[in-house]
Amino acid sequence: MNKIFLSSPHMSGNEQKYIKEAFDLNWIAPLGNNVNGFEEALSDYNKIKHTTVMSSGTAAIHLALKIIEVEPQDHVFLSSLTFVATANPVLYEHATPVFIDSEPDSWNMSPLALERALQDYDRSNQLPKAVIVVNLYGQSAKMDEIMSVCNSYNVPVIEDAAESLGSEYKNYKSGTFGHYGIYSFNGNKIITTSGGGALVSDDEYSIQKARFLSTQARDPAVHYEHSQLGYNYRMSNIVAGVGRGQLEVLDQRVKQRRAVFKRYFEAFHQLEGIEFQPELEESMSNRWLTALTIDPYQTGVSRDDIIEALNEENIEARPVWKPMHLQPLYQAYTYYPFYNSKSVSDELFEKGLCLPSGSNLVEEDQERVIQIILNLMS
Ligand SMILES: *Cc1c(COP(=O)(O)O)cnc(C)c1O
Repeated sequence: MNKIFLSSPHMSGNEQKYIKEAFDLNWIAPLGNNVNGFEEALSDYNKIKHTTVMSSGTAAIHLALKIIEVEPQDHVFLSSLTFVATANPVLYEHATPVFIDSEPDSWNMSPLALERALQDYDRSNQLPKAVIVVNLYGQSAKMDEIMSVCNSYNVPVIEDAAESLGSEYKNYKSGTFGHYGIYSFNGNKIITTSGGGALVSDDEYSIQKARFLSTQARDPAVHYEHSQLGYNYRMSNIVAGVGRGQLEVLDQRVKQRRAVFKRYFEAFHQLEGIEFQPELEESMSNRWLTALTIDPYQTGVSRDDIIEALNEENIEARPVWKPMHLQPLYQAYTYYPFYNSKSVSDELFEKGLCLPSGSNLVEEDQERVIQIILNLMS
């Protein structure tokens, strides 16, 4: 049996046209038409004024922190339930992360836990320099509530939309609600450049500054003049060619991932003890990964039993992200749970399962996944 992946690259066929153009014009490196074209196409797609593309989503988060001027004495508040790439740039700057729990409606940052944390830190005059909010598995966080509480304390927001490119919240594209948004084009994301990321903002100065920092911070001079610490984070022109071909099919990929979700939903939603990640009202998730929770007392099987049974059939499935406040690297930092006595992300991690969700997952393969799970439960 061929391996079924959680999420694998799905090319459109047009990528090679852009790469060939770069070869024909000898625009191999570093900048050129594809980089500019990809940035413009992303700005148009998301209806945001400015985009700069770089080598990864992690680099984009790092430069957002640099633009905000996060320094070693600063705190940064962020979602605990996420991939480690959201948190690591905080430590690159030797700042202190404070982790905020999820809420059950979207599985994303709880605006109430965030507000409690802001109140506490305000009292000791230690308001964070930034808040990083994650849109998990394609589902937008409650951005209105989060922006309103952060604006009332004057704290800038970085929206980690690495997983939610193409999703919507109140009729606008996910990733455009924070002061800064970041996307990822890593190999497993909804579209991929094989590796890459983007930083977006309506603020032109910020994006210009990110471009400057991502290309070694060269001051204007014929010789090489440097007064600031820079990085080599820019996306290459070949990689951007892949991105242009991928962006053309993004809306189709969203439809395909949502169709995968719908088939799982129809197969399982009536079973006791299975709950899918909800879609907030007035939002549209790209359903990057279909995520659900399994209550072993009601279903008779544990999440880990399911992962094991699927792995035996050469099918990749994974637990929901392990929250940062439980990671050895981060467990010493402060954590604000949903209630003082209840952590939502702990429970999502214990019971949460991500199923194969690629836009290239064929129906017969998905049917195999579904049957294995149904057999376990009967
Ligand atoms: C993938 C991902 C990133 C990092 O993106 P890279 O392009 O792999 O550096 C950041 N945050 C989240 C939530 C992600 O899923």
